[in-house]
Amino acid sequence: MNLESIKAVKQLLSQPQKIVIVPHKNPDGDAIGSTLALWHYLTDRGQEAVVIAPNDYPKFLKWMPGNENILNFERENGQAKDKIAEATVVFTLDFNHLGRIGQMQSVLEDLTVPFVMIDHHQAPSDYAEIMYSDVSMSSTCEMVYNFIEFLGDVDKISLEIANCLYTGIMTDTGSFKFRSTTGRTHRIVADLIDKGAENTQIHHRVYDTNTPGRLHLLGCALKNMVILDQYRTAYITLSQEELDAHKYQKGDTEGFVNYGLTLEGIIFAVIFIENKEEGIVKISFRSIGDFSVNEFARAHFEGGGHNNAAGGKSDRSLKETALFFESLLVNYKEQLTA
Ligand code: 5GP
Ligand code: MN
Repeated sequence: MNLESIKAVKQLLSQPQKIVIVPHKNPDGDAIGSTLALWHYLTDRGQEAVVIAPNDYPKFLKWMPGNENILNFERENGQAKDKIAEATVVFTLDFNHLGRIGQMQSVLEDLTVPFVMIDHHQAPSDYAEIMYSDVSMSSTCEMVYNFIEFLGDVDKISLEIANCLYTGIMTDTGSFKFRSTTGRTHRIVADLIDKGAENTQIHHRVYDTNTPGRLHLLGCALKNMVILDQYRTAYITLSQEELDAHKYQKGDTEGFVNYGLTLEGIIFAVIFIENKEEGIVKISFRSIGDFSVNEFARAHFEGGGHNNAAGGKSDRSLKETALFFESLLVNYKEQLTA
């Protein structure tokens, strides 16, 4: 974050504001962790703040301190719209394009109040007056730690803030193993533990929450896996029928895509998940090394993200999407097998 932006934020927060904090649609651990951490920090400072999530999110994130105060834009639409109408500042966290917040987009686009973006995805758009955008960061939670540090308040990081930030750093780094995990990430995490973050409990609450349905769905996903050794690629499909048969709940497919990368020699893993209600196939892409799934998702599936983790969607049927995907790989053979 540059000095000018830090000054501008200090100036904003030197007066009482009505602050709306927004994570992306289908928020993950980093989105909920970072928005709640910022919410705790701002309310501890005496600001009036509210987190408004575009839609619901998995149960394994709902234990976080402050969760009961999050408004769900879909479910509590009237209340959420009132809060947005009153807002004097909007913070957007863990996304950088208003297209990532679903139906909230048109409501936020109409606002004239200052926006502050804190985000680590590529190619930010320009809706925010104050931007803290850094693609080298492991997580938005790491950036919120930095943000609090820029404001000279590291000593004000409470147990609640520490638990929220730990969660997002843990989930976005794949438990501290992705390439974006630096020495600085570990030093921040160490400080969060010193401040009381309940690291063992957090791993347990996020990762040890399987239902029999989810484990059986994982079995189905792994059975469906197609391995294309010649492209060092593996992909999974899950149809709506298969999801229904396993009583699918939001979050149940989280992490499935990573199994492809655990195969020796595979560097590109994809999962295609049919969503009949939205009429799309939602896609997650993961890679190991230099193959940019961000560019791949952007070029072919209206998506984006990071070099090694990205998402996108397709309007074709599940079968056609998979076939189309396979047809693209020949153009990437060199990159995939380099
Ligand atoms: P996931 O596969 O876990 O849903 O997402 C992986 C990464 O890609 C996340 O950082 C997420 O924000 C980003 N991402 C997922 N779906 C989309 C999408 O449709 N568009 C864009 N631009 N990014 C996405
Ligand atoms: Mn993130």
